[in-house]
Amino acid sequence: MKLLVLLVFQEYLIVPVTVLKFVGYHPKTEEINFSKEAIFERDNNYCQYWHYDEYNHKFLYKCTPSERTLDHVLPKSQGGKNSFKNCVCSCRHCNINIKKGRTPEEARLKLIRKPFVPKRNKKDYVRYKFAYNENKLSHRFYAKHILKAEKVS
Ligand SMILES: [Zn+2]
Repeated sequence: MKLLVLLVFQEYLIVPVTVLKFVGYHPKTEEINFSKEAIFERDNNYCQYWHYDEYNHKFLYKCTPSERTLDHVLPKSQGGKNSFKNCVCSCRHCNINIKKGRTPEEARLKLIRKPFVPKRNKKDYVRYKFAYNENKLSHRFYAKHILKAEKVS
């Protein structure tokens, strides 16, 4: 029975993927250059440390533009680098009042997820203008024909 379920599932999965490949749809991704803005974008302005309410229930905290700061998980003073894997969006309170240049363990803060290198697919080339490369035919084609249809400025 399990095998049958697995086979049926595979069938459903493989057919659409094959069709998409056949019609030339290859969702390509590219790496994004490191910047403060790219970090805020990746983390969607959420403080990457858990916040706790008065009942000790954890919740996600969304920063306002004036509250958000770039936090080095491993502090620069301890050899932490400016990289996607070492930087997160953090609210001013967590970064400046609690963490104060220490590691999360030392400050007893918990990351909501492990920082990662974000990737962007073709669809986003023009939406995030800093990544748009006019010398690339695929970017130009995408901007001209596909984004136009989606009406994204
Ligand atoms: Zn916070």
